[in-house]
Amino acid sequence: MAECLFCRIIAGDIPAEKVYEDEEIFAFKDIAPKAPLHVLVVPKKHIAGLEELEEGDVPLMGRIQLALRDIARDQGVADSGYRVILNCGRDAGQVVFHIHYHLLGGGQGLNLD
Ligand code: AMP
Ligand code: ZN
Repeated sequence: MAECLFCRIIAGDIPAEKVYEDEEIFAFKDIAPKAPLHVLVVPKKHIAGLEELEEGDVPLMGRIQLALRDIARDQGVADSGYRVILNCGRDAGQVVFHIHYHLLGGGQGLNLD
């Protein structure tokens, strides 16, 4: 989707600090980190959010779980611990409507409200 911020980041039209990429998945540093490590992990396929998820997306979303685990290991927070968040809709504070997981780790930064 040309007007979607994360589709444009995936396409390379908007710069981002990439930490992981494969055929289906892209991950990059959050521009306004809420923890010492704050990575966004997204499918390359444009899916607006959890409400739009379809049965056929199940394998993709499963592989994203494994990518989250691998990125946590690569970034050095697997042992100390990390949090994975998926904001869904307005009340959760979702502002970018391309489904994404927040991967947060690193010391005191996990004491989130
Ligand atoms: P959400 O509130 O769950 O929709 O999260 C959107 C996230 O995208 C926020 O944590 C923003 O800081 C982050 N964000 C917005 N624009 C960019 C960008 N250009 N590069 C990286 N992260 C961004
Ligand atoms: Zn998109």
